[in-house]
Amino acid sequence: MPSLAAARQHTLRERNLELVARAVYEAPEPVSRADVASSTGLARATVSTLVDRLVAGRLLAELAPVSAQRAGRPGVPLVPAARSVVGIGLEVNVDYLGASVIDLMNDVVDERVEPGSFHDSNPAEVLPRVGDLARELIASAESEGMRVAGARLALPGLVDAHSGLLQVAPNLGWSTLNPVPLLGLSGLRVDVANEAKLAALAELTGDVASSFLYVSADVGIGAAIVVDGHLFLGERGWNGEIGHVQIDPAGPRCGCGATGCLEQYAGKEAVNRAAGLPADAPVEALVRAVEARSPAAQAALERAASALGTALADFVNLVDVGTVVLGGAYTTLLPWMRDDVEATLADRVLSAPFAPVRVRGAVAGPYAAMAGGAREVLRDVLASPADWV
Ligand SMILES: [Zn+2]
Repeated sequence: MPSLAAARQHTLRERNLELVARAVYEAPEPVSRADVASSTGLARATVSTLVDRLVAGRLLAELAPVSAQRAGRPGVPLVPAARSVVGIGLEVNVDYLGASVIDLMNDVVDERVEPGSFHDSNPAEVLPRVGDLARELIASAESEGMRVAGARLALPGLVDAHSGLLQVAPNLGWSTLNPVPLLGLSGLRVDVANEAKLAALAELTGDVASSFLYVSADVGIGAAIVVDGHLFLGERGWNGEIGHVQIDPAGPRCGCGATGCLEQYAGKEAVNRAAGLPADAPVEALVRAVEARSPAAQAALERAASALGTALADFVNLVDVGTVVLGGAYTTLLPWMRDDVEATLADRVLSAPFAPVRVRGAVAGPYAAMAGGAREVLRDVLASPADWV
């Protein structure tokens, strides 16, 4: 049995390994061993040993040496290793399902998306299809020598943050379900999360604010509150259901059973219908209609923006967040919605005269929930690099 002192020594080494890995991953530019020593406060020799371990384990990679400005040996810039350890993001949404493979450089190594219509679908038919996609991508990644760390499945509904059970996904027509066994991905760790929450995490790159309210529209509208780089999940992870905030009690019936929900004014299908387009028309069709000055499309977007602004204002008044990030279909529609959203926020947010709410479009691209999910998997790798070297 190892002694307590040996165990402590072991833990300290693992913690230092994480510290060194993080110093490289979180640096905006490649750093040398000397840079890592000075940013972590660890001895240069210790850093060197730990870096060697991370390089041998293919969590870090070395670039070509650059000549030092001062006398001495040239520095070897360190970067996260490309195409070595990868995370998988999986998603089922109302009009597509997909899988994405992302590496430690945050690059999309491989991605497959299948459009479809999953309204009132059967999870026992849909989830195995996602599992099949994932298996293909995993086989291809492994054939190129990559190691798959795990997967996150994004679903548009209430997911219990502790158990991973899906309580309800109104637009899929799914309820009370453990989705993981249906994927059929034995031997791979798969966690489940709400799609808006994973998409929000994909926004945490570069110099964006680390506290914001993220709201994305597909057929449904989901939201996530990010505070200092971390999701605020509420008691069970069920918060952020802004799509079911009431805009008008006399409004149309919603998939959730209530009336006049935001989704019925500002969800993708509701806007399409109001614009005189087929409910499942792509967002580009709506853009073409509004660019062609279709009065119905213009009115539909105005109504959507004002309803969205009203719901956002309630949210901001309740939780006090200075930045709103609009994702999903809203990113594309923002140029036609921004003025009305901002005007409604200015009218309805009590603190707006002192600090106007900033509104910006999402930057993580169309499959942000898959990207955010894969990155969460890699965040776990980074939290315990010793398991991977
Ligand atoms: Zn509703």
